[in-house]
Amino acid sequence: MIKLDFHPTGRHFLQIPGPSPVPDRILRAISYPTIDHRGPEFGALGLKVIAGMQKIFKTRHPVVIYPASGTGAWEAALVNTLSPGDHVLMFETGQFASLWNKLATRMGLKTEILSYQGSDEVLPQAPGWRQGVQADLIFDRLKQDTGHSIKAVCVVHNETSTGVTSDIAAVRKAIDAAKHPALLLVDTISGLGSADYRHDEWGADVSISGSQKGLMLPPGISFNALSPRAIEASKSAKMPRAFWAWDEIVDMNKGGYWPSTSSTNLLYGLSEAQDMIEEEGMDQVFARHQRWAKGVRSAVQAWGLPIQCADPKLYSPVLTGVITPDGIDADAVRQLIQKRFDMSLGTGLGKLKGRMFRIGHLGDSNDLTLLATLTGIEMGLKLSGVKLSGSGVQAGMDYFSQS
Ligand code: PLP
Repeated sequence: MIKLDFHPTGRHFLQIPGPSPVPDRILRAISYPTIDHRGPEFGALGLKVIAGMQKIFKTRHPVVIYPASGTGAWEAALVNTLSPGDHVLMFETGQFASLWNKLATRMGLKTEILSYQGSDEVLPQAPGWRQGVQADLIFDRLKQDTGHSIKAVCVVHNETSTGVTSDIAAVRKAIDAAKHPALLLVDTISGLGSADYRHDEWGADVSISGSQKGLMLPPGISFNALSPRAIEASKSAKMPRAFWAWDEIVDMNKGGYWPSTSSTNLLYGLSEAQDMIEEEGMDQVFARHQRWAKGVRSAVQAWGLPIQCADPKLYSPVLTGVITPDGIDADAVRQLIQKRFDMSLGTGLGKLKGRMFRIGHLGDSNDLTLLATLTGIEMGLKLSGVKLSGSGVQAGMDYFSQS
């Protein structure tokens, strides 16, 4: 038998950038009895959560909900809009952009990935992993594509491996300025619900998200928000699809139902999360994450450690990446903190392995849980022999008490 109560006394500090700590209110909603997914109460629940997702994505168009993790929703966006061998243009902002590129390649699409043109003194091995999408490079590439062989541009809104956001409206403007018909597919898996996101206004064709980050749910459901152009493209797209096919789902969603069995209890949780976001107000939710992020960054700056995101305009409100000094294995620091203080921090992924760790500031948090997080990190850094220029905990206290 596996003992599920893994942790010692007190709450475990889940400070990874998703799955995020789930509020008790959502956990209670998830614990309601499972109902008949073809019965009348279910239809009402389905209609409510779909309308709620439209508000959160800021769209008037259909939002498809899948019983799958974010990776499934990535695949869904591609198979519904493209045909085998189609050319897609991606931008390497970090590990998740790279993984989406790998997935598209495995599916038989012709992928091309653009990278940041520039250097970086702190991380010369991965300069682009400290930056966002460069819309001007997308413009230049699309301008060259006079035959319009590129069918989609794929970008990540909040790169969870680095803590860098990208300007999605600028990417749309670049596509339009190049007078190119490519669709714009956007991964906002870790942005939605914590960072401002506007599917219709920013001109995204498919926006992809997941439950386990800003929506504060456990992992297990994910989303595609559609545009009329994406729906039109899906009518002639030839990638094989059945489970992921939008047409049957959107049709059955009119009554609040799905063709296959839904994740009923996660939808209860989603309904509760939507109520919580609505009660607080979306702008207030975004401002709260910005404030948390500033408090955490003030600590990192006081420690004298570089922040993974090199451009202050692109700091993520969701997570902060911290680069450890040369010779200090960031993973060893993270493991020490987990063992000694029962706190999980995000690991450095891909090219960043061992060079940095990530602090999540999303989900069921508050000023004091974040200050405790900073305390655990400060203790862990000192125990690992890192020379700090000052106390991040003091800087965090100053920020949170005064802001
Ligand atoms: N894209 C981003 C930006 C992510 O943060 C993640 C997961 O953390 C994924 C895609 C993959 O989603 P999942 O792990 O839910 O399949």
